[in-house]
Amino acid sequence: MAERMRVEAVAYSYDETPVLQELSLDLHSAKFYGVVGPNGAGKSTLLKLLNAYLIPQQGRIFLDSRPLGSYSLQDLAREIAMVPQHSHYFPFTVEEMVLLGRTPFYARLGQPSAEDKRIAAEAMELTDVSHLARRLVSELSGGERQRVTLARAFAQRTKILLLDEPTTHLDLEHQIKTCRLLKARSEEGATCLAVLHDLNLAAAFCDYVFVLEQGRLIREGVPAEVFTPEVIEKAFRVSVPRLSHPVTGRPVIAP
Ligand code: ADP
Repeated sequence: MAERMRVEAVAYSYDETPVLQELSLDLHSAKFYGVVGPNGAGKSTLLKLLNAYLIPQQGRIFLDSRPLGSYSLQDLAREIAMVPQHSHYFPFTVEEMVLLGRTPFYARLGQPSAEDKRIAAEAMELTDVSHLARRLVSELSGGERQRVTLARAFAQRTKILLLDEPTTHLDLEHQIKTCRLLKARSEEGATCLAVLHDLNLAAAFCDYVFVLEQGRLIREGVPAEVFTPEVIEKAFRVSVPRLSHPVTGRPVIAP
């Protein structure tokens, strides 16, 4: 099956120091991808490039074999939803914020339809924020806000979801719930790519993992191939024993 997105020999730097170098990877439909790596490895930069928020200084990025730069912003928003690490929270209610995910689908300055509201309500239900619908986003806890941002992305109903540390502020129940939702979306055909700091979540839920270190892709593959003591030592400079989950057999990463 043809890839949905292709990153070809991409390089990016904010100043003279390269942040990403010679980066190539393919993303397919019906897969949940994890991106892991130490702080500063270039993970967020990669997501911003995939979302066309940044433009590569070298190399190319394609969506369905067409250069990313050839899409209008509205067309891109119908294909790709992004959950950024930090969002700006305007004085919106939760429901208004989630409805923002529907704006690519209605005419400029138009109003959300009953169908848009139904889709937003469904997304709020999925991420457990329905009971907060009338509250101001600015008055929520970090984890509640993260679930609102996730609901907004789900409301966009795109076949590609890019998520930058979507579980960081979440409690254990919601970390697992979020990963299950992403897995379910990918099983329905979506391409999900999440930067995850929790290697155990990545090992448990992702189909395929990319390991970034100092702007380079040092390893990619299924969790069992990627989460070896050797790769973890190289990427994170910590030594860990080789452990696996007693039920699933997937790698477990513990000091
Ligand atoms: P990660 O997500 O893996 O922690 P980032 O992609 O956020 O890494 O950052 C990679 C490097 O780029 C870091 O050294 C960071 O300081 C630098 N960087 C990120 N954003 C900017 C920016 N807007 N201006 C200058 N440097 C930046």
